[in-house]
Amino acid sequence: LKQQDSKAVAERKLDCYFYSVLGQDLPFASHFDSLIEAKKWGFKVSADMEKCSSVESVLKYLDKWDKKRHDLNVETDGVVLKVNSYEQQKFLGFTAKSPRWAIAYKFKAARVSTILESISYQVGRTGAITPVANLKPVQLAGTTVKRASLHNADIIEKLDVRVGDTVFVEKGGEIIPKIISVDESKRSIDLFADSGQPTAYITHCPECDALLVRREGEANHYCPNESGCPPQVKGKMEHFVARRAMNIDSLGAETIGQLFDAGLIRNIADIYDLKKDDLLKIERMAEKSASNLLAGILASKQVPFERVLFAIGIRHIGETTAKKLAYYFKNIDSLKNANLEQLLEVGDIGERTAQTIIDYFADPVMNAMIEKLKKEGLQFELSEEQLTNTSEKLKDLSFVVSGVFTKFSRDEIKKMIEQNGGKNSGSISGKTSYVLAGENMGPEKLKKAEKLGVKIISEDDFIKMIAD
Ligand SMILES: [Zn+2]
Repeated sequence: LKQQDSKAVAERKLDCYFYSVLGQDLPFASHFDSLIEAKKWGFKVSADMEKCSSVESVLKYLDKWDKKRHDLNVETDGVVLKVNSYEQQKFLGFTAKSPRWAIAYKFKAARVSTILESISYQVGRTGAITPVANLKPVQLAGTTVKRASLHNADIIEKLDVRVGDTVFVEKGGEIIPKIISVDESKRSIDLFADSGQPTAYITHCPECDALLVRREGEANHYCPNESGCPPQVKGKMEHFVARRAMNIDSLGAETIGQLFDAGLIRNIADIYDLKKDDLLKIERMAEKSASNLLAGILASKQVPFERVLFAIGIRHIGETTAKKLAYYFKNIDSLKNANLEQLLEVGDIGERTAQTIIDYFADPVMNAMIEKLKKEGLQFELSEEQLTNTSEKLKDLSFVVSGVFTKFSRDEIKKMIEQNGGKNSGSISGKTSYVLAGENMGPEKLKKAEKLGVKIISEDDFIKMIAD
């Protein structure tokens, strides 16, 4: 659905059923009536919804569909029960999390037993280790199951699951089945083989052999070798070229994998060394796509500093934090030389994030990479334009911008707020410092601001605030 080209999405033949009509003062008395009407309008609604007038008829419905659901042309794991009358729905209202007039009924998940043949370990793009159970293939809910997730070391210990065990596997709403329990009565211990021995969790990374670490409060083990562990390096490259980072969109995950495996790129900076001849060695890479790719790489040298900072992949640094850091420190060297105290002065940066920044710049591999990227001409400081338009005048202030303005567009005003250290928010709350009101501001917003005692200012007031 995230494709830029909506035609590509259309080709995927996605479909949906509508299950609710939303609106104020709807001309229906009940949920059922609203869906019948929606169907008349041409929306797809489930043909199998039913109005039940007693608990008995609800139970009968559930019973019927527990069997019949396997004949539907979509997968389903349950039924939603709703109070039909809108008036009664209104009377029942909501809890903090959900309506009191609707509840989901889940069918019992399908379950089978099989043999655990081995446990393997996968390394994710963030370095997280996931243990995977390799099972003797077994039929479950219409598919052949060969693997199941074991999540982490705690789960393995809790289940006391061992290679050779007979295990119960369940498939609920998730795509990947899971091991529910072990049939210990069927366990046979073979002292001369792995079979039946307690599972010893791996201590070293299966991809790069680094000693694994487990951070406080986290369930997964991690491979700490961020700059040398293949899946992590590939993950960093994919992040680096992403649209919201360096936007080298012709360099997809598959090509990155091929270039990495061919030894042509070992880290982010190597991307800028790529030559056309290198690219043409890659399978299915045509002359034209190679040229496009090189053009994309060249264009990325103009990507502004805050996005470069996001792209280099410092742990915990998302787009927003990268932007804040960029505007606060203005260039990579001041950021690199900042100590813990200075980092904590930046809004929203906690101790954990500050420490990751310090650790990142203490790593000689990362420093060498940044130096190389600098030489390639990437933007490691704010541009002249960005520098002249910024201040901290609106630091710690939160604005809601509403209505139509005469001197600037709404987006320009929002940008000015950010450039001066302020925050934009979509809705008025007790935390709002100012409502910046243009013409035709909604009466509801006005009422809310007055009720909460939030100051309402005009466009001219705002211009004075930042011009001072
Ligand atoms: Zn590793």
